[in-house]
Amino acid sequence: MTALRNVCVYCGSSGSVDPSYKEAAHALGTALAERGLGLVYGGGRVGLMGIVADAALAAGGEVVGIIPEHIQKLEVEHTGLTELHVVDSMHTRKRMMVERSDAFIILPGGLGTLDEAFEIITWRQLKLHDKPIIIADIGGYWQPLRDLLTHLKDTGFGRGDIDQLYTFVERVEDILPALRREPEPQQAVDTARL
Ligand code: AMP
Repeated sequence: MTALRNVCVYCGSSGSVDPSYKEAAHALGTALAERGLGLVYGGGRVGLMGIVADAALAAGGEVVGIIPEHIQKLEVEHTGLTELHVVDSMHTRKRMMVERSDAFIILPGGLGTLDEAFEIITWRQLKLHDKPIIIADIGGYWQPLRDLLTHLKDTGFGRGDIDQLYTFVERVEDILPALRREPEPQQAVDTARL
């Protein structure tokens, strides 16, 4: 994929997690900036979200944060970003994150990350966008998700080809090479239907 400029990262807002996940977030932020890729994320200063943003900024990268007004205090908005958008709702946030990004990376996270991951995967299944999605299975964190996806297929609730909607990688250093191997998106985001 050549037209890769801005990459959206979904990840946890918790900081009370194993250091290996924090290191992965830091390494990803640095790698994005070093390759001249802009970061689009949820705009918070907390947890892996803050770490990935700080690392990208420290490496000279551009970072766009999009945060809903009602959780601005909860997630403590990052005030040192290239752009910070305070928006009216979670839905506006998620739609803007999709519009502003050429690809999506899912790092370890909690309920919010899962919601964002399933939404972006589902929107791809519904052909509302055709942008690549990489799930970073750092230290096997997403093994239960892999098992669940297999279960969906085994029981007939997930189509046999759902694996084509996302790509799992195991290490941070495999994320950007995996993105480069992805085919160029063939369609614009159907924003009116998000
Ligand atoms: P978490 O993975 O729960 O730590 O949350 C990561 C990000 O997802 C944070 O920016 C949250 O604001 C966001 N988030 C939390 N809950 C939801 C939800 N139900 N829908 C969309 N995003 C959410």
